[in-house]
Amino acid sequence: MKHERILPGATIGVLGSGQLGRMFAMQARRMGYRVHTLSPESDTPTGQISDLEINAAYDDLDAVRRFALDVDAVTIEFENIPAATLEAVAEIVPTHPNAHVLHTTQQRIREKTFLTRAGFPVTPFRHVRSESELTQAVAELGCPAVLKTADWGYDGKGQRKIDAPAEASRLYAELGARDAVLEAFIDFKREVSIVAARAQDGMMVNFGVVENSHRNHILDYTLAPADLAPEVVRHAIEIAVSVLEELKVVGVLCVEMFVTREGELLINELAPRPHNSGHWTLDACVTSQFEQQLRAVCGLPLGSTEKLCAAAMVNLLGDAWETGEPDWRGVCEIPNVKLHLYGKHAARTGRKMGHLTALAPFTHDAAGARRALEQARHARRVWRRDS
Ligand code: AMP
Repeated sequence: MKHERILPGATIGVLGSGQLGRMFAMQARRMGYRVHTLSPESDTPTGQISDLEINAAYDDLDAVRRFALDVDAVTIEFENIPAATLEAVAEIVPTHPNAHVLHTTQQRIREKTFLTRAGFPVTPFRHVRSESELTQAVAELGCPAVLKTADWGYDGKGQRKIDAPAEASRLYAELGARDAVLEAFIDFKREVSIVAARAQDGMMVNFGVVENSHRNHILDYTLAPADLAPEVVRHAIEIAVSVLEELKVVGVLCVEMFVTREGELLINELAPRPHNSGHWTLDACVTSQFEQQLRAVCGLPLGSTEKLCAAAMVNLLGDAWETGEPDWRGVCEIPNVKLHLYGKHAARTGRKMGHLTALAPFTHDAAGARRALEQARHARRVWRRDS
């Protein structure tokens, strides 16, 4: 096994090749590291920034081992990498997060079972493996409820809301009648998340609680900080750092939560990697979530998460590329707004193509974040009429 303190000049391998890998690779290259990426695609967002882009299936273990032999550490940017792939890599080179963390968090039932056993508050749920289990689960949790496939779910993919028991069996069939989880529908007051990082020596940092708003199950915007009572903020952070500690994760992990109308916190989901709701940290924090991931993976001390100002991030989805590449001049004219594009060629509906971060200089509170959101939305309206 190679040494865990991996210094600039070394090469980091990234499994996955999307925008998260791209922003990670940009930070790694800024700090003098080399980056190799492996995924089944080519000319990818991460590949464009990497020294080497390897085109192979994640379950091609020969290719994966060759990839591992050429790098000094490996990380992931996509949680649907098979845990067996990560195990094969970890036999050759330090790998963070490890296969245990990935295995636990990449399947909803395993994730919720882990959280429940460890005493964390989660949305009430039932494991569903058949129509009769579904009928029973609907009777127990009531309607509305949300049916989600156990694996391969992200951005609302593999999810159906059940408004009445009579719809259940049709919606289950639509999802392929496979392993699923039924969740009580939470009429939440807010959706929030905490992006935190844990180093190899167990030290932890977090970026505070941010507020998220989804549209069609896809993150639309993030406000940093969230507009919550200080005791709710403290409690949410306490839960999040305990999750990182319990999992003994090395690297960044995002805990998404619902805040109910009564102020109760329920964990919805974990993501063992930098997260869309942490993109604002690139422009508004001393150390971004991507740099924290790099530092943790390389065994370096974590950086300060101090917020330079309140911020808001809005996603740019493929829908707006219908008539070709937008004219970005209008956006670039707006002070305090930063444009991030991911270099994706095909702009499909709902595909994350980039994001805008608006900064609210000299303010650190939720009111500043709201003002920043107005600027970010204005910037998005410059080229997208429906915002
Ligand atoms: P997920 O893929 O589980 O993160 O779900 C995507 C989005 O769907 C969440 O961010 C929520 O906005 C919504 N959602 C998911 N599960 C529930 C639930 N049990 N109750 C209410 N809304 C939900």
